[in-house]
Amino acid sequence: MTRPQDLPPPRRMRNLPRDERGFIVPWFVAWMNEAGEPVPVGTGKPDFRVVRPGGIRAAYMGSTCWLCGQHLSAKKTFAIGPMCLINRVSSEPPSHFDCTAYAAKVCPFLTKPRMVRNTKDLPEDRVVAGVMIERNPGVTALWTTRRFGTLKTETGMLFALGEPEALEFWAEGRPASPAEICKSVESGLPILIKAAAQDGEEGLRALEQAVARAAPLLAACQVTVLPLDLAKGSAA
Ligand SMILES: [Zn+2]
Repeated sequence: MTRPQDLPPPRRMRNLPRDERGFIVPWFVAWMNEAGEPVPVGTGKPDFRVVRPGGIRAAYMGSTCWLCGQHLSAKKTFAIGPMCLINRVSSEPPSHFDCTAYAAKVCPFLTKPRMVRNTKDLPEDRVVAGVMIERNPGVTALWTTRRFGTLKTETGMLFALGEPEALEFWAEGRPASPAEICKSVESGLPILIKAAAQDGEEGLRALEQAVARAAPLLAACQVTVLPLDLAKGSAA
């Protein structure tokens, strides 16, 4: 049986280093020494949970792919969790579609929904902009668009996604089923509702609109999101 890391990578990712298991190390990953300090790429060990120092800003300013580090074209793809599909915000900058499709098939975190994100020994200064949902979404959406904006937050930069030209859902290294997409979205809704409720009535109304805006995108994938019952903190 072919191991996922043995699948042929897209052309632009072929020259990236591999870790000791044979997985390609994407451009954004920080390499660390034994003391947990960032070191030059290819020295020390890659820590896939940590973004290379200044990585988000460098990828954005240089208009380079988050995964392969090469120049982006007009169409850009964001690999996002289903919750980001509703709020249209990503904490990571965009990539080439080919690079994200490869990651959706190979990356252990994206392909193994039950894999718990290991936060042991994470450097304390690992700051992620905005409110991150620290759960493995199980389903990854590849959102391809020509437009995106940036949002400044107290902790850094977030990316506001433009209207999608294409949208795909992946789980366990293969296209996700409508049931999986639905389950993933619905299990994350209470988290979004809780966050929206902190902004009171206004926050909840904005979330309601965001869900309504996502509904046709999900419907195109045969997924129906029931009307929200915000008071209950779940889909009605
Ligand atoms: Zn790329």
